[in-house]
Amino acid sequence: MDNVNDSASINERSKSIRKTLLQERQAILKEAKTEIGNFVKGDEKQLVEAAIDDGDWSVVDVNEDIILQKLHHHKLKLNKIDEALRKLNDGSYGICDDCGIEISEARLRVLPYAVHCVECKEKREKIEQVEKEQSFQ
Ligand SMILES: [Zn+2]
Repeated sequence: MDNVNDSASINERSKSIRKTLLQERQAILKEAKTEIGNFVKGDEKQLVEAAIDDGDWSVVDVNEDIILQKLHHHKLKLNKIDEALRKLNDGSYGICDDCGIEISEARLRVLPYAVHCVECKEKREKIEQVEKEQSFQ
């Protein structure tokens, strides 16, 4: 009996996580469109909005760096959410991609699309920081 209850509650949990992730995804898409809408008008705007919907950003050929930067920022977040949804599907959600330990419940509550534990994320950020500094030299 206990096992049945456990798997039912795991299902409930992943259902609610999935819902949260999809809501977050929608919110980012909306935010991206609103932000981009402030910078591009007319035909170009439709092109960008279609790219955001399809997730095929390669068709976007906008000149302004600021738009690309903003798109990039949103895309990174969307990628993380998609990754979390994928992990949810294959049952590895909540497990750190790098070290394989369980990501703390508190962290997942704040960041439902986290795919790395705090330690690994900090390590990655340090590496990214170093790479960034080196690319400026
Ligand atoms: Zn880790």
